[in-house]
Amino acid sequence: MFTQWGPAYSRKMLIWLLLTCVIIGEQQFETVADSNTTEAHLWNSDHDYEYVPEWFPSNRTLGSVSAVAFDASGNIVVFHRGSHVWDINSFDQQNRYLPISRGPIVESTLLVVNNQTGTVINEWGSNFFYMPHGLTIDRNDSYWITDVAMHQVFKFNPTVSTTEPALALGRAFQPGSDIHSFCKPTSVAVLDNGDFFVADGYCNGRIMKYSSDGRLVLSWGKNSFVLTISYKLPKGPIPENFFAIPHALTYAADKDILCVADREQGRVQCFNAKDGTFHSMYSHPQIGSRIFSVKYSPMNGGVLYIINGPQFTNGTRPIQGFILSMQSNQIIARFFPNNPQLAFSNPHELAVSENGNQIYVAELSPTVVHKFKRKNVVQRFSQQSQSPLSSEMFPVATDSKTMEENPYTSTLMIVSIVGSLLTTSCLLFCVWRTICPSSTVSGRRPRFSTAVENISLRNLNHSEQELRETV
Ligand code: ZN
Repeated sequence: MFTQWGPAYSRKMLIWLLLTCVIIGEQQFETVADSNTTEAHLWNSDHDYEYVPEWFPSNRTLGSVSAVAFDASGNIVVFHRGSHVWDINSFDQQNRYLPISRGPIVESTLLVVNNQTGTVINEWGSNFFYMPHGLTIDRNDSYWITDVAMHQVFKFNPTVSTTEPALALGRAFQPGSDIHSFCKPTSVAVLDNGDFFVADGYCNGRIMKYSSDGRLVLSWGKNSFVLTISYKLPKGPIPENFFAIPHALTYAADKDILCVADREQGRVQCFNAKDGTFHSMYSHPQIGSRIFSVKYSPMNGGVLYIINGPQFTNGTRPIQGFILSMQSNQIIARFFPNNPQLAFSNPHELAVSENGNQIYVAELSPTVVHKFKRKNVVQRFSQQSQSPLSSEMFPVATDSKTMEENPYTSTLMIVSIVGSLLTTSCLLFCVWRTICPSSTVSGRRPRFSTAVENISLRNLNHSEQELRETV
């Protein structure tokens, strides 16, 4: 059918080429538009969450909420500071807690809340703690708690006693750096065999591993926190194993690694749980220079749920929750209140349900616990078909530095340029065929035109394939 180059065929070819130009042009413009979002191509709808407002009982008053965790039954447990506030008068230069004489927090510091009905089904922890910090609940429903004022780590079995801990480590109100002491310990992670890790903490910058009966078996890490540092570090990036407040721990059972929120260095460091050797490190320019907490999920090959906080350096970064792929070290989703009046201010800890369907975020100030629910598949599909990306759930990145640092952005720019050149070539060819319909030597027309068509098709197909692979 390509052996004749008559007027009818010429018109068909012209229409075909124009349509091709339009299609390619649209694909190219879509690519350019998407490149403005920088993460659009990494966005993963498996992690699309909606905000659940007013889930917490309105008649319950909370102090600074330092932690949230799921218990073994799936209830959410809130750990708060009641009437105690951590301010500049709380500690002296040697990290000793000053208002001891005021006594412990009189209110119930632990509230067990049914995550479906939002009702408080149990509460305890009054007249014991002074400055709650970390809460971890293991699969046996033991509560592992750190108190930065007492410089201690406690294990409670609430079914046995809510007033006498099953295990207490550290010296009460005595900060220290020896093997029997902590200094403002922050967090605990527990392995299935009962062994556990303690992040110690604000002053010592170390991770300590204990056997299930409380014997210290391993310790690593050095303090690089600028306010308490005692090491002269070389210039350049802070080496691994140095912490500027190891603030939260999470254990990745399928990888047998312990991950640490290295708070003031804006990174997550992971270590082999067996021997504490360095495994990997994660950070992202959009998260910024402060990471308050991290939780692990084995979904999608391993993801980290991260919350940042108010930034002191590197300019402004939104205070949000991020879901970061450990495989690509890229952000694949975010979560934050959809109402600007409820925006994160000082998030301190988060909890993620085992199936990833719920996220809770504890705030120091205002004293609230945020709840997020994962959108179900039908809901996600219908919303995506209406709008590919919700700007509310997935805000556009406008920071030029971030754009430059994202390798996907540069690739998309190259694809866009190639697409532009291709579209321009198509249009020029169409115009040329319109203006000069018989400019070729009649005897060579069929071979010449077929050759041009084939070359065009090869180029177009190649370009489309490249677009698909890149996007
Ligand atoms: Zn803290």
